[in-house]
Amino acid sequence: MKCFLGVDIGSVSTKFVLIDQKGEVLYSTYFRTEGDPIGSLKKGLRWLEEFIKSQGKDIEISGLATTGSGRYLASAVLGADIIKNEITAHAKGVTHFMPETRTVIEIGGQDSKIIILENGAAVDFAMNLLCLKGDAKITTNPSYNPTPIREIKIGKRVLTHQGRFMPVEQVYERRYKGQMIEIEVFNVGKLEATPEHPVWGLRRNNIAVYKLAEQQDCKNQHTKQRNFSWEPRPIPAKELREGDFVIIPLSGFKKRFCDFISQEKKQDYRFFIYKNWLFAPIRRIRRYQFEGLVYNLRVKGDSSYVANFVGVHNCAAGTGAFLDAQAFRLGIPVEKFGEFALRSKNPTIISSRCTVFAESDMIHKQQVGHKVEDIIAGLCQGMARNYLAGVARGKKINPPIVFLGGVSENVGMRWAFKEELKQEIIVPKYNKVMGALGAALLVRESPPQKTRFRGFAVSEKEIKTTSFICQGCPNHCEVIEARIDGKVVARWGDRCGRWSNLKY
Ligand code: SF4
Repeated sequence: MKCFLGVDIGSVSTKFVLIDQKGEVLYSTYFRTEGDPIGSLKKGLRWLEEFIKSQGKDIEISGLATTGSGRYLASAVLGADIIKNEITAHAKGVTHFMPETRTVIEIGGQDSKIIILENGAAVDFAMNLLCLKGDAKITTNPSYNPTPIREIKIGKRVLTHQGRFMPVEQVYERRYKGQMIEIEVFNVGKLEATPEHPVWGLRRNNIAVYKLAEQQDCKNQHTKQRNFSWEPRPIPAKELREGDFVIIPLSGFKKRFCDFISQEKKQDYRFFIYKNWLFAPIRRIRRYQFEGLVYNLRVKGDSSYVANFVGVHNCAAGTGAFLDAQAFRLGIPVEKFGEFALRSKNPTIISSRCTVFAESDMIHKQQVGHKVEDIIAGLCQGMARNYLAGVARGKKINPPIVFLGGVSENVGMRWAFKEELKQEIIVPKYNKVMGALGAALLVRESPPQKTRFRGFAVSEKEIKTTSFICQGCPNHCEVIEARIDGKVVARWGDRCGRWSNLKY
């Protein structure tokens, strides 16, 4: 029997879906990637092989498609016939079952996205992408030596914006094509981030920092000005402007920057110190188009790290990782989280714009006696509002609305979207594996004459990836190379095809 396989691999989860020639799902699986994408691909393949053997039928994989942020790696390891982005794969999966769908809300472990459909085709989309370029230097313990973010591993201790060293819980790597924001800080250097990535800092316009600093009468102004605080807050890179301030935690670099400040004060660049932070002004913001690998970290406790001396947030607000973290903090299994929310009679208001604010809000609400179910319901509502204001901003959300991804399992989130949108929220079958299913459907539509699928034996082989910087032109692309048993099987990450088009 001819069958088609779709594989969707992301930073948080991996999905395999096998369909027959009619598009019926024969097998599907969803499991955590756990920071080991190659191990996950091998594991998924072994489980699929066991399933096929258990069926006692002659099942032949006639085509394979990969999708998700790790789609190129999955293609190199498994041998894909087609590679599709997540938007195309999800749109295909949804419209196969519900052609009339107009809006897809998809919230996974680390991503959230919206897809707008018309007549069964995706016409618009938006994603939350919080990432830095691979060469961003992360301050690590104990040497304070900066390490490129692409080399950081789980468990490594990194300096946070609070000036302490905390372990990395998760490392995210993905391909990105779109706008990059270069933030040049006076006498400190440059940080390049995707537009949504929050950077710890203060807005000059909002709080009149320049004026206060010039008057050198901060305390009086502080008390006079309502809602003003010198505490930094996470600001998306795209909202930062020249003259705004970013923070440098001084415990990491005290000597270097205190010496520097005393020298630079004479030049009146208007640096200032508050608590344990040096506030450094932004000199210039540049926007440019970028295509290549980008990275993010999830850091225990403070949800932040220091890149190129600047404190950045690792905000996962609006994603499954955020809900996981809050469930853990409240001591409630994440599977039960939604049930608690539905019990609430009086949801409390929780700031869900970022993990740090949400956590402090939740602690405060617990201390003043709010019920756990009211706090969880408030958190779900806040997360839905945050998604609609951030990811879906400006998009017209028409019904039917389909909710996909791991977070769609959470009944509290389904309720919160229904409340916010005043519309029915449909969670279809295969909601957690729709990207893999869409990929399988796409390869079924355009089957190859002879599949490139490497077979199940690949799960026993030694598979490694490395990267190098191409010096062929000023783009300096970071090219990823995959080897199976020492032999190069694929390269990707180049802009011009110089490496990816080679025959291996
Ligand atoms: S030659 Fe091609 S791969 Fe090399 S840096 Fe230039 S665009 Fe990138």
